[in-house]
Amino acid sequence: MSSSIKSTIKLNNGINIPVIGLGTYLTEDSDIEQSVRSAIEQGYRHIDTASYYKNEKKIGDTIKQLIKEGVVKREELFITTKVGTWQHGYENALKAFEESLEKLQLDYLDCYLIHYPGTYSELPKGESMSSLRSKTWKALEKLYNDGKVRSIGVSNYTESHLHELLSQCTIKPVMNQVEFHPYLFQESLLNYCKSNDIVLEAYGSLAGGNEILTEPVVLEISNQINKTPAQLLLKWAIQNGLIVIPKSIKSERVIENSLLDFEISQENIKKLNLLNKNKRFYWDPNNVN
Ligand code: NAP
Repeated sequence: MSSSIKSTIKLNNGINIPVIGLGTYLTEDSDIEQSVRSAIEQGYRHIDTASYYKNEKKIGDTIKQLIKEGVVKREELFITTKVGTWQHGYENALKAFEESLEKLQLDYLDCYLIHYPGTYSELPKGESMSSLRSKTWKALEKLYNDGKVRSIGVSNYTESHLHELLSQCTIKPVMNQVEFHPYLFQESLLNYCKSNDIVLEAYGSLAGGNEILTEPVVLEISNQINKTPAQLLLKWAIQNGLIVIPKSIKSERVIENSLLDFEISQENIKKLNLLNKNKRFYWDPNNVN
């Protein structure tokens, strides 16, 4: 399977998404320009952000500047942002979208995701979380039908959240962005998404820089095939059919994380799959009703 920085896959609505993107989770204002600039200069065309990360404005500034310099064209980029947990509901989500678009200084988005199936805000009187997130989805459908966003999807949805959404929606989500690495090999969710033509996008492929990078089996295989642990983990996700969005503020790592045009043997893929221990480094949506 080829996974150069130019590789794309087709989403269920027919549009293409690059399989390698740049994550920007809480990348500070002082680092974001450098991170996005080195990524785009290296050939990345896919950037993942969220209203929660508070860096949409700086990302927008950097993209605008790169377009002005002729480094990239808007239509070559795939920009994703997300409705925050405090922005659920029909009107709130429509407003959140306009705010994100303004900060990013774009005319349209490539993908808009519901960041999390739950909220930490108080629910409106008489409202359940389930009905509130249905309203958020209706807002995303409107934005899609109005041509303001090229694709819509979800994040941190479990099979039960997806099942609920698929039974109500008029437009299917193109993707579900979830925590996914060998310590959290979500095989059942992966198969559910594959059978419903929903792409799974991995976040935390490097577990946020945590112990997975020094896991003995990861070190053994990466040494054996002469790749770095980060490259092995990212390619493992891609060979399992996922999109990856590693984050780094260091140019050399941004480059390293994009050099994935190699193959892991099926035997080694299986060894990595077997590391699963249902360990999460981020939030757990299983308790969200
Ligand atoms: P990650 O990509 O798994 O790991 C990033 C961490 O690993 C950073 O600390 C980075 O440090 C380090 N790193 C990067 N490349 C490396 C390399 N080649 N070798 C060693 N260390 C490396 O974690 P993440 O940023 O949490 O997740 C990726 C993206 O997914 C986020 O940025 C965000 O866009 C998205 N995300 C989404 C959700 C959600 O709820 N939907 C949650 C979390 C994340 P340096 O920066 O110092 O290089």
